[in-house]
Amino acid sequence: MRSTEKAIVLKVGRFREADAWVRILTPTHGIFNAFAFGGLRSRRRFTGCLDTLNHVLFSIAANKTGTYYSLEEGSLIHGFQEVKKNPAVQGLAVNCVQFVRMLDPSPGQDSRIVYDLLLETLEMLEEKLPSGDMVPFLFRAKAAFDLGYRPAFDICASCGREAEGMRAPLVSVESGQVFCAACQSRRKAVDGVVRRVSPGVLRSLEWIRNSRPADWARLGMTADVARQSRRLIEAFVAYHLGLQWENGYYKKV
Ligand SMILES: [Zn+2]
Repeated sequence: MRSTEKAIVLKVGRFREADAWVRILTPTHGIFNAFAFGGLRSRRRFTGCLDTLNHVLFSIAANKTGTYYSLEEGSLIHGFQEVKKNPAVQGLAVNCVQFVRMLDPSPGQDSRIVYDLLLETLEMLEEKLPSGDMVPFLFRAKAAFDLGYRPAFDICASCGREAEGMRAPLVSVESGQVFCAACQSRRKAVDGVVRRVSPGVLRSLEWIRNSRPADWARLGMTADVARQSRRLIEAFVAYHLGLQWENGYYKKV
């Protein structure tokens, strides 16, 4: 393989005096490591490129036996300097990057979806920061939705009643379906892991499902809806993507 590809730098490590290894996310080949031989000395070939969160156009080549990739040169598209200037904002971005690294989307459609989502999230954080600390949750929810988990938050799955105005709707984490109070008692048990939420949570999740990161700065939630939404998103992501945030790290569940 020899190609020129846009990539987001997820991690940079040093080995030997002047060489670096770089973990990158590309839209077509997903996540992989590539070596930047001499990258820490020859600044000319990688001017400002070898740093986490950077958006870079890399020339990538495989060695003869195809056992590893090396970066021949790079040109920086965006360094997201505003994000890096503010430790709190950088923390939100790094959280999304850690999630992406653990998610390790398969090359092709999934890697394209995650790449677009991460890039748009960094662009949004660079421009205008949404209030609160919801960004990593919005990112995880949107990743789950875009990767094929398609819940229906707007109607009762049993009677078709609109979720708007429902009292104490119940959500099945497994199926992503909503059940109104009347159907809950008729149905007795809704299968699997369920969460009782306020209607505002359903409205918010439906809005997130149809949003892009550029919209997120406009999202307003009460503290209670935000808290319930975070818990529901965590349950969705643990169930459908097998990842859970715990003590500052993502772990596979
Ligand atoms: Zn119903």
